[in-house]
Amino acid sequence: MIKIPKEKIIQKIQENTELSEDEITSKINEKLKQLSGLISEEGAAHIVANQLGVNVLEQTGRLQIENVVPGMRQVDIFGKIVRVYDVREFEKQDRKGKVGSFVIGDETGMIRVVCWNDKTDIIDELKQDMLIKIEAGYARENRNRRKEIHISNQGSIILDPKDAEEIDISVKNRRKKISELKDNEDNVEILGTIVQAFDPRFFEVCPECGKRARMKEGAYQCEVHNEVEPNYSYVLNLFVDDGSENIRVVLWRNQIQGLLQKKHEELIEMKDSSFEEIKNDLLGQIVKFEGRTSRNEMFDRLEFIARYVHLNPDPEEELKKIKEQNKQEKESNKTKSEDQEEEEKIVINEDKKDDLSKEDVMSLEDLEEL
Ligand SMILES: [Zn+2]
Repeated sequence: MIKIPKEKIIQKIQENTELSEDEITSKINEKLKQLSGLISEEGAAHIVANQLGVNVLEQTGRLQIENVVPGMRQVDIFGKIVRVYDVREFEKQDRKGKVGSFVIGDETGMIRVVCWNDKTDIIDELKQDMLIKIEAGYARENRNRRKEIHISNQGSIILDPKDAEEIDISVKNRRKKISELKDNEDNVEILGTIVQAFDPRFFEVCPECGKRARMKEGAYQCEVHNEVEPNYSYVLNLFVDDGSENIRVVLWRNQIQGLLQKKHEELIEMKDSSFEEIKNDLLGQIVKFEGRTSRNEMFDRLEFIARYVHLNPDPEEELKKIKEQNKQEKESNKTKSEDQEEEEKIVINEDKKDDLSKEDVMSLEDLEEL
C-alpha cells in the first residue's frame, strides 16, 4: 500500500480541479462518514481523488526526494552523492549475499539508497557530489520508519545520466540548530560544545551477531547463538549545546572510539576504571555530529543519535556553513540578531588552531538497520 499523506492528496486535487481546500476536505469527510470506521483519512482522500479523476500517483516533472513514498515501485530519481558506506557481506538463515548503501540528496532532502548483491559493484565508483540517476528502484520504510530506496534485480544506478543536462541539484543544507530539530530527522548535522558527559555503559553482546547477550544459568546466552563468550559494546551520553538549545547526544561503539580517539581493545581494558578525567577533558570541546533525531518515549524528549563524530571541525568550513544557514533563514523570512551571529563566530574561532580530522564510521546500529 502506498502511503501518501492526506495533505499531499488534497494539494494534488487542488492543482487539478477548481475545488477549494475546504470543499475537498468536506468531500473527504463525507466519504469517511459514508464508510464509517472502514477506511483511513488517506484512504478516503484517495477515493475522492479517483472519483474526481485525479491521479495522485502521476509524476509531473522530476521526482524529488521528499515526494518518494514507501510502496512506490519504479522509482526514477536524480540525486547527488552525499555519503557512501562500505559494502558488506551477510549470511542470514540460508541466504547469503552483499549489501551496500549510500545517501543521495537534492534540494528537498536526503535519502538512503540500499543496493543488494551484484548491484553493490558500482558503489566503489561513487564519489561525493557526483550526480547520479536511479532507475526502477523501489521505496520502502526501514524498521526505524525512515524512507529508503532499494535497488535489486530490476533497478540500476546510472553514473553519467544523459538526461541530466539541465538539472542543477544543490543538496539541502543539513546543518541545523539544535532548537530547530524535529522528530525523526535523518542525515542532519549539529555543531556544539560538550557541556556534560556521562560514564560510558558497557554491556555484553554476542560476538557472532552483535545482539545483546544476557547472563542465564551461569553463562552468557544469545537468543540466536545460545551460549557464547561475550564481546562488549558500549554507549555514552553527552549533552551538547549550540547556543540555541541543548540536546542529549547518544553515541555507540564506533562513535565513542572516534570521540575518545581510542581503539576497541583500549576501551575494553578501561571498562572498570574511572572515566572522570576523560569526561573532564570532553567538557568544552566543540564537536560536530552527524546523525538522526529520535524521540525517547520514556522521557518524552528529543535525542540525537550520532552516526559520525567530527573532532576539531574546520573553522573556515563552519563559518561558510553558518553564512549559508543565515542566508537560507533570511530567505525564509526569519531574521536573527547581529549579536547571535557574532557569538557563533567566536565559538568557531576558538578552535582555529586544530586541523580537520574526520572520523567516518558506521555504527553497529546502522548495520542492524539494513
Ligand atoms: Zn548471536
